[in-house]
Amino acid sequence: MAEGHGSQLKPAPAKLKSEVSKYFMFKGSDGKDEFDKTTVVCKLCPQELRFCNDTTNLRNHLSRRHADKLFGFSDSGQQRLDVAFACKLQSDSPRAKKITEAIAMLICKDLRPYNIVENEGFQNLIKVLEPRYVMVTRKCLSEMVIPKKYAEVKTNVESSQQNELPLRVTAGHKGRLTRMSP
Ligand SMILES: [Zn+2]
Repeated sequence: MAEGHGSQLKPAPAKLKSEVSKYFMFKGSDGKDEFDKTTVVCKLCPQELRFCNDTTNLRNHLSRRHADKLFGFSDSGQQRLDVAFACKLQSDSPRAKKITEAIAMLICKDLRPYNIVENEGFQNLIKVLEPRYVMVTRKCLSEMVIPKKYAEVKTNVESSQQNELPLRVTAGHKGRLTRMSP
């Protein structure tokens, strides 16, 4: 087998969606259209790494050996953009949460369907605004984010009604709160 980064190297398979994986090539087996799925080669240095079905190892290598590529300053804005793509936001990070909430608000206020998050145009808009954001799923929106938002809004409305409207506690209603007539 030839040494070095020859034509046997293949890009990471498409199913490996992680942006990190674009910095690595898989070693191809001789004469076969298959990958050696256990070894990847860094595109930035000659190092070979073990690949164990996730990108943890690859991410660690990038941050240890190529931290400048990941986090440093670069003369090229384009490269920095690539680097930004490499570090996706965790869904529980403050920035990601804020975006997810804004999408939930858009759906509620503008009466948009949940599947707006699957629309190409909408996805592109978010990608332009925040390339690191991983789009919230329709399921997560409909089962978690929106019900939570709804409960919050309901509580807020109820408490603001109690604060803003003069309350009248009447003995006749056994202490129940009633609104003033307009
Ligand atoms: Zn490397």
